[in-house]
Amino acid sequence: MLIVPERKIADLMSREAAFEAVEKVFAAMSAGEARNFPVIREAIGHADALYGFKSGFDRETLNLGLKSGGYWPGNAAKGLTNHQSTIFLFDADTGKCRAVIGGNLLTALRTAAAAAVSVAHLAREDAKVLGIVGAGHQASFQLQAVAEQRDFERVVGWNRTPEKLEALEKTARDLGLPFQSVSLDELGAQSDVIVTITSSFAPILMNAQIRPGTHIACMGTDTKGKQEVDAALVARAAVFTDEIAQSVSIGEAQHAIASGALSEVEITEIGAVINGDHPGRRTPDEITLFDGTGVGLQDLAVAAAVLDQAIQKGAAVEVEF
Ligand code: NAD
Repeated sequence: MLIVPERKIADLMSREAAFEAVEKVFAAMSAGEARNFPVIREAIGHADALYGFKSGFDRETLNLGLKSGGYWPGNAAKGLTNHQSTIFLFDADTGKCRAVIGGNLLTALRTAAAAAVSVAHLAREDAKVLGIVGAGHQASFQLQAVAEQRDFERVVGWNRTPEKLEALEKTARDLGLPFQSVSLDELGAQSDVIVTITSSFAPILMNAQIRPGTHIACMGTDTKGKQEVDAALVARAAVFTDEIAQSVSIGEAQHAIASGALSEVEITEIGAVINGDHPGRRTPDEITLFDGTGVGLQDLAVAAAVLDQAIQKGAAVEVEF
């Protein structure tokens, strides 16, 4: 069995490789070749932790496995990341464990890659202004990945606590893009592409703030009850997602579905657009919204790519198991 430790991931995984792996697995999901299994997520009654796992199988690549982990709110005080995850890959022919791979950085890279894939396939080609809502751990990864997809000229950002936007501003400047902290009204009025990446449980961006032609990647809502945008905005938009079952239950679409403003049949898997089975954006004025809920197959796809690189570069640790 091979082990790829967390500290080695940064040298083994690029944004380009993450994009390619995630785009490919979204396409396989839509073609019926890859399937996510039901997600387990439980409060364990210890250390205030939420623990769970996401798993699946891709028949095309034979990637089989799971990402195990969760949220330990006391970790920061111990010098550790609050979100902890580890990816396990199994041999699809024998069930033997092939590899254990650090999943913390990979989670950020695969989540940012999902937003980037949505921008590549759904945003207007002439998009110039990128808006980011949120300034937590994931936000800079989102900015870096999405900025590569269009010829953006500047970035506008909003966070509940604006002083936390400093790291995002530095990321933008490192990319050669001017950055401005703005109000939500300004962000909606100026942005061609918006990424929301917060832990909010109430809508932040409202329908009236969004102009025609915007692409919105809603990446923060991955649990029942969370919400980043107005349900009326979701109902107004052409809605795309990674997986419909998650979108309607734990994703951004859950609220528009619950209120009856949107029905499940109106949601399209992004894989259908990648495969050419759906045209994606239909007009320059259409609002497109990607509900990125985060699926186990994304984790397996990037982990398998890392494992290949680790084997090639001799960076994996082999153990008898
Ligand atoms: P973080 O804790 O580092 O940052 C949280 C961000 O949310 C901050 O910007 C904070 O200001 C903002 N926020 C929290 N409550 C808010 C509220 N009520 N109103 C407005 N803003 C609020 O978290 P992170 O690691 O950056 O993750 C952000 C979100 O993305 C989390 O909800 C996480 O579960 C989710 N996530 C989703 C995926 C996916 O695949 N879709 C993957 C990883 C993380």
